[in-house]
Amino acid sequence: MGWKHVRHIGGAALDVLFPPSCLLCAADVVQAGLVCAECFGRLHPVVAPCCDACATPQTAAAYLGADGLCPACERQHPVWAHARAAFLYDQASRDLILQLKYADRLENARFLAQRMRQAGQDILTPDAVLVPVPVHRWRLMGRRYNQAAVLALAVARRSGVRCVPDALVRSKATTRLASFSPQERKAEMRNAITLHPVRAAGLDGRSVVLVDDVLTTGATASVCTQVLLEAGAASVSLLVAGRVPAQKEVDLDFPVMETPM
Ligand SMILES: [Zn+2]
Ligand SMILES: [Zn+2]
Repeated sequence: MGWKHVRHIGGAALDVLFPPSCLLCAADVVQAGLVCAECFGRLHPVVAPCCDACATPQTAAAYLGADGLCPACERQHPVWAHARAAFLYDQASRDLILQLKYADRLENARFLAQRMRQAGQDILTPDAVLVPVPVHRWRLMGRRYNQAAVLALAVARRSGVRCVPDALVRSKATTRLASFSPQERKAEMRNAITLHPVRAAGLDGRSVVLVDDVLTTGATASVCTQVLLEAGAASVSLLVAGRVPAQKEVDLDFPVMETPM
């Protein structure tokens, strides 16, 4: 067990022994679980004006229609109702998220979840249910936990909204998807994501907030949304830590595309 984990357990008492340091650069900070002012300047919180359906920031409110949608979402609305993102996915937020994925930096989840709670305050209603995008067990082996579930549970703790971390199950490894056509990928994903037969029982009529670390093309989130709507969810909205600018064609949902640290 590394020193970071020791501090993680001990909290304030251990701050004396291990002075709190920035999550990104290890500079001193007043309290554990924060980034320093300089690193915070490198993060780009998603702020208004941004699209209600895909959380893509716009340079001016004039680019959004009366319903708060960007031109792309006006043409074709995503299957989910609303999307909220804490940060643009750039170098700094990418570091926070990848460390959470690959280096067990669970304190990053608390920081990201705090920002996600703020970004999603209008969709985190008392009757909502948080459901993470699932990861296949094959991928969990190298990573030990589902980072979306870690984020969803951290948002639940901060917001008081209920979380069902295993409502969705990814039943097949989707590793060859990079060579598939978009249609083939979609069909493959559609078969891969299913409901947990017991845990999903309470979703009927509820407003589900689907949680993921990063939103790219939304292919996986679309499939999850469809499965949740078919399960009787009244609505599904999306809450993510990082929003990849829409023009990028990279789809981080697929393991082949992931960059190790
Ligand atoms: Zn820093
Ligand atoms: Zn949009």
